[in-house]
Amino acid sequence: MSWFEKILGIEMTLDNLENVLEMQLNDLHSAETQLISALPKMAAAAKSSALAGAFRSHLAETRQHKSRLEKAFRLLGKRMSGEKCDAMAGLISEGQEVIDMKGDSGVKDAALIAAAQRVEHYEIAGYGTVRAYAELLGDDQAAKILQRTLDEEGQTDKKLTQLAESMINLDAAGEA
Ligand code: FE
Ligand code: FE
Repeated sequence: MSWFEKILGIEMTLDNLENVLEMQLNDLHSAETQLISALPKMAAAAKSSALAGAFRSHLAETRQHKSRLEKAFRLLGKRMSGEKCDAMAGLISEGQEVIDMKGDSGVKDAALIAAAQRVEHYEIAGYGTVRAYAELLGDDQAAKILQRTLDEEGQTDKKLTQLAESMINLDAAGEA
């Protein structure tokens, strides 16, 4: 429950699938908002310039994801609750742990990638759900913009895998 709902005494109930959709959209909106603050820190912590660049370009996409979600709320007639996504807060704090740890910078890059891929997979799960609901409701425009974000999350995940495989993890292994 958000502070807003607590004050007004409104409690979200799960009576129908529309409620589930609203809950999932709010979870994603909080997740993207938190990521907009976290990605610059990930970029600053990356030693590899390719990895830092990947984080920065995904930051630009993440800002788009947030505004597309706001559009999806409007299109689907759903209410923004301001509820915090605790799961994303946890994933980001695991990334922050890596940033704060001492160690070899190449090895740290590998650990940053691992943390970032958990984030992307979390988002992929959420967008797959809301896209499917938008389709079921017959809202093609909402489904299309949610699919666009889902595609970008998938591309980011693949790019991170390529970075890990092509250089970073090999470097890290060489330090052992
Ligand atoms: Fe995103
Ligand atoms: Fe993402």
